[in-house]
Amino acid sequence: MKHISHWIGGKPWTGEAASRGDIYNPATGQVTGTVDFATAAEVGAAVAAAAQAWPAWREMSLTKRADVLFAFRELIKQHRSELAALISAEHGKVASDAAGEVSRGLEVVEFACGIPHLLKGGFSENVSTGVDAYSIRQPLGVVAGITPFNFPAMVPMWMFPIALACGNAFVLKPSEKDPSASLLLAELLAEAGLPDGVFNVVHGAKDAVDALLAHPDVRAVSFVGSTPVARYIYETGTAAGKRVQALGGAKNHMVVLPDADLDLAADAAVSAGFGSAGERCMAISVVVAVDPIGDELVEKIASRIPALKVGPGDDEQSEMGPLVTGPHRDKVASYLDTGVSEGAMLAVDGRSHPVTGAAADGFWLGPSVLDHVTPAMGCYRDEIFGPVLSVVRASGYDEAMAVINGNPYGNGTAIFTNDGGAARRFTHEVEVGMIGINVPIPVPMAFYSFGGWKASLFGDTHVHGTEGVHFYTRGKAVTSRWLDPSHGGVSLGFPVNR
Ligand code: NAD
Repeated sequence: MKHISHWIGGKPWTGEAASRGDIYNPATGQVTGTVDFATAAEVGAAVAAAAQAWPAWREMSLTKRADVLFAFRELIKQHRSELAALISAEHGKVASDAAGEVSRGLEVVEFACGIPHLLKGGFSENVSTGVDAYSIRQPLGVVAGITPFNFPAMVPMWMFPIALACGNAFVLKPSEKDPSASLLLAELLAEAGLPDGVFNVVHGAKDAVDALLAHPDVRAVSFVGSTPVARYIYETGTAAGKRVQALGGAKNHMVVLPDADLDLAADAAVSAGFGSAGERCMAISVVVAVDPIGDELVEKIASRIPALKVGPGDDEQSEMGPLVTGPHRDKVASYLDTGVSEGAMLAVDGRSHPVTGAAADGFWLGPSVLDHVTPAMGCYRDEIFGPVLSVVRASGYDEAMAVINGNPYGNGTAIFTNDGGAARRFTHEVEVGMIGINVPIPVPMAFYSFGGWKASLFGDTHVHGTEGVHFYTRGKAVTSRWLDPSHGGVSLGFPVNR
């Protein structure tokens, strides 16, 4: 049985935890270890370590900070399979998917390596005679990240590489369901030359989060998780005077117009609906089939599902793994019955999907499709966060758009069409933060920023890209004059440009 604990001041914490949580292998349903839960005292120790390390880190030159990130990049590449295996063993996702997660996180590290360029300010010479003006951006101090179970490496990597590159010290509170990846990341940062205390990890659940939100030395909080918790983090953190970006849940629609290539659309719906067992915030959970192609599209989607290999993440043949916990699997499966009782048609029932090489106690549920779903149904309104794809039928483009814009979430969406004008109109009209045109999972590259609209994001700033740099820094505008013999003496008038 493994035992996971905090990482404070550049080393593992060795105290005795007041409480612990179990870590499961979702493919077997067995407990494989325990994780210490932090109280306010351990959170306080991590923040204190960060606060102590911050001044020297902040003073370190941009090129030296970038050096640490370059070294970290190399180490992640060397440990890519180890990191992916840790993710797979605790989250359940298949090895190739876990490796993909690491790659997308690595792209943010690579973006952060460019920090000397990213922190360049503006300079205006001679804004008044002999007066220059310029802008600089400075780090905030100690900042915190609170992250969800579904991307135990990538989502933390959306945050800390940029925060550290900008000159902040960081305290990470990863999901208690799959905590091991964060510790390997901490070890690799230390190996890369990051000074002790600049990056810390505290484990736990609500108590640890609340201690971070209440701590006066935590200047900013980045959160990714479900919408009710995101709203709570935003309201509590901002009330305490912190800068907060809180990314929430999602219900991502994929509109298929009648002119689309239906085989391409069916492949995309299956890939984006069932990849990572639907436990992605950018997973397609609703296909909006525009008349008259609904029956044909559902048939094409359903025909692809029997061939999908559901099995343990460490089996290279597996394409989809188990769900993260037993209670979550049961909740996801319950939507199949409630959907039918509300009038939907169960086109594919994942409960009978074969699972290869599976332990009976694993948290399995195969890919499922609910057809003729309407926006009034619970299976439509709730974020199911599992391998259940809903199909809503729409009479035309306008009805499809009304469905999406009527949904409270606005994370991602996609349109499948060969009509450029329709795609352009969709992009212009849809109230969603990330849009794919014939691309089902439009996760922006690291040099753009990731974030949704409406109930999918609380706060103004998206993560990574230049918005990430802005979030982790604050600006100063400097007006500067070096006196020369021509200066005119005292003047009590308001400074105006001449
Ligand atoms: P979650 O909201 O349950 O947990 C997220 C984090 O908050 C964890 O670290 C957890 O320990 C902590 N937490 C949980 N309950 C809390 C509470 N009451 N008070 C304070 N902290 C609490 O989310 P999850 O189940 O780990 O992750 C899945 C959710 O995350 C889904 O809703 C998914 O859509 C969302 N998500 C969103 C994005 C995005 O970019 N918008 C990305 C990934 C996941």
